[in-house]
Amino acid sequence: MADSFKAILVSRDADKNQSAGIVELTDADLMDGDVMVAVEATTVNYKDGLAITGKAPVVRRWPLVPGIDLAGTVISSDNPSWQIGDGVILNGWGVGEAHHGAYAQRARVKGDWLVPMPASLTSRDAMAVGTAGYTAMLCVLALERHGIEPERGPVLVTGAAGGVGTIAISLLSDLGYHVIASTGRPDEAEFLHQLGATEIIERSELEQPGKPLGKERWAGAIDTVGSHTLANALAMTAYGGAVAACGLAGGMDLPSSVAPFILRGVSLLGIDSVMAPREIRLEAWRRIASDLNRDKLASLTTDIGFDQIISAARDILDGKVRGRLVVNMA
Ligand code: NDP
Repeated sequence: MADSFKAILVSRDADKNQSAGIVELTDADLMDGDVMVAVEATTVNYKDGLAITGKAPVVRRWPLVPGIDLAGTVISSDNPSWQIGDGVILNGWGVGEAHHGAYAQRARVKGDWLVPMPASLTSRDAMAVGTAGYTAMLCVLALERHGIEPERGPVLVTGAAGGVGTIAISLLSDLGYHVIASTGRPDEAEFLHQLGATEIIERSELEQPGKPLGKERWAGAIDTVGSHTLANALAMTAYGGAVAACGLAGGMDLPSSVAPFILRGVSLLGIDSVMAPREIRLEAWRRIASDLNRDKLASLTTDIGFDQIISAARDILDGKVRGRLVVNMA
């Protein structure tokens, strides 16, 4: 087929059974947008796992090219902000959910969704970070804005061996925080220490129903798990501390009480990466470019091929992926 390129497409049959497969598309198959990007790299996030497997209703338009994160080069533009040759990053905005996404060698998108590639990053670096890493930085920024400085005490990171968790640990430890990492994979303890975790605790300590208030163990937390884990993180946050909640790997519910809020002045900081305003995205990527230790990023990143995306989607939901995955699309 002339000018065709490979893509992953998720489809649904008449009985709403979902399937994902590799197909060839052309520019005519892409959706509306004012910038065409040659996709050089992408990644597999937890949400991509949900979209490809259909385990949660992430996909809102059928059939769809999934993939919420891309990095590449502008190859045509009707948007005055972007010129041919510009390096760009796209995270979220419903791409890979309601608009054809990153798992294709070309993406036609709105220029307003793009952020410029920081000079010190390649497309591969940006996708090693991906939405997971950008969200980890949004959490760090939220804690900082709340005044949770390293001197205030330890910061807990849950889902520590995952994408958000590993980058959060790297960022926090290099900023001088004492990091307590909660993981269900004790065999990754050495790896988490190398990323900068000072203490490791077992996931099971936090995932059982707990008391409304517990011993004050940390000044802040970054929670990727939700449910009882988030409730316990709140219950053990020190007076005036804050918990940045970004994930639901353990459940969507929050079986908590008001006790941490009204007796200890603890704050729950909600973190959304998908619709985050442009200014906050630019700040997050600026801080990633300046603060994220590249050796640590390399140590938490695994390269996979385009053909492995679908199996990686299953693995990430099974909690089998360590750190971050990068896919070379060139
Ligand atoms: P990963 O799968 O890479 O990491 C999640 C980690 O959570 C796992 O590695 C595991 O860590 C832990 N975990 C997995 N299953 C369970 C479980 N059943 N109970 C408790 N812990 C579990 O995913 P990401 O890091 O990409 O994303 C983490 C979460 O953050 C997801 O829920 C995702 O949807 C959400 N997210 C939200 C964003 C937002 O905008 N709010 C943006 C990005 C992500 P370990 O083995 O160390 O225990």
